[in-house]
Amino acid sequence: MADTPYPRPRWQRDMAEVITRPEDLLAALDLPAGLAPAARNAAKLFPLRVPRSYVARMRRGDSQDPLLRQVLPLHDEQAEVPGFSADPLDEAAARRAPNLLQKYAGRALLITTEACAVHCRYCFRREFPYSEQAEQPGDGGRWRSALAAIARDDSLEEVILSGGDPLSLGDARLTQLTDAIVAIPHVRRIRVHTRQPIVLPSRVDAGLLSWLRGIRLPVVFVLHANHPHEIDEEVREACASLRAAGAQLLNQAVLLRGVNDDADTLRTLSSVLFDAGVLPYYLHLPDRVRGTAHFDVEEHRAAQLLASLMASLPGYLVPRLVREVPGAPSKTPVSMA
Ligand code: SF4
Repeated sequence: MADTPYPRPRWQRDMAEVITRPEDLLAALDLPAGLAPAARNAAKLFPLRVPRSYVARMRRGDSQDPLLRQVLPLHDEQAEVPGFSADPLDEAAARRAPNLLQKYAGRALLITTEACAVHCRYCFRREFPYSEQAEQPGDGGRWRSALAAIARDDSLEEVILSGGDPLSLGDARLTQLTDAIVAIPHVRRIRVHTRQPIVLPSRVDAGLLSWLRGIRLPVVFVLHANHPHEIDEEVREACASLRAAGAQLLNQAVLLRGVNDDADTLRTLSSVLFDAGVLPYYLHLPDRVRGTAHFDVEEHRAAQLLASLMASLPGYLVPRLVREVPGAPSKTPVSMA
């Protein structure tokens, strides 16, 4: 099935025009070209990928810009640090079927695609073996076994579309997938884990909203914004459109050293998210994936930041500070010291 009729929608053109060469990113931000060789080396481990509209929200001439730090490959990524590994969450053990993971009771997570609009340097799936998840061609589609496994297990009330970013799929593929999920009688909710309304708000277009309105189950979008500078007018409009089409909007952020590990930034993030109609849900300690140690924030420091948020924000604007522990029955709260 073709994803989109000709001509391509704007978001697909934006996807095709993402920046993938460090020298182009540095030039766009008036940063020294001398940073490019180290970035090119680190990008061999996990390619650079960033939409132009996201780059437009970065400060020019500032190599420490908090949005840039999330996407620019750094020499630090090549350091081998004890305790940081390819699969720190042991997701291999959570595999129920090709493209289906189950970590917690009552919900299962569908790997819909490996594609993202942006490559976040701290991503816990930067080494995820997507190709090993694949179904064999000609066996009835990428999600056949996963959907069959969900249908067989009536304890699964919620299906989480994840990836990669599920909104990298075209509207026709999304419709095909959610039609199949909605047809499973015991599924009561669909959750969409996506960073695209933040990094590529053009994705929230008439086609996507029509898909969303057509789903006859409650849909929760868990967005992923880490810094208040990520929320601009176009993102606010995208969020408003998603809400108007019936989605509940939550946000999960990752606590990242040098990006958002200070109380003022986190407070402002909660506030601008709320203004955009999004409730702060989780603040994750970064997963200890290889190549990301330079983002790590120690637990006692994270707990201090949480205490500061609790002392200055209403409870509904304080995200739950958590760490993911392999094999645990839920996310593990990080309590205050
Ligand atoms: S959008 Fe999500 S899945 Fe994609 S690179 Fe970023 S954190 Fe990873």
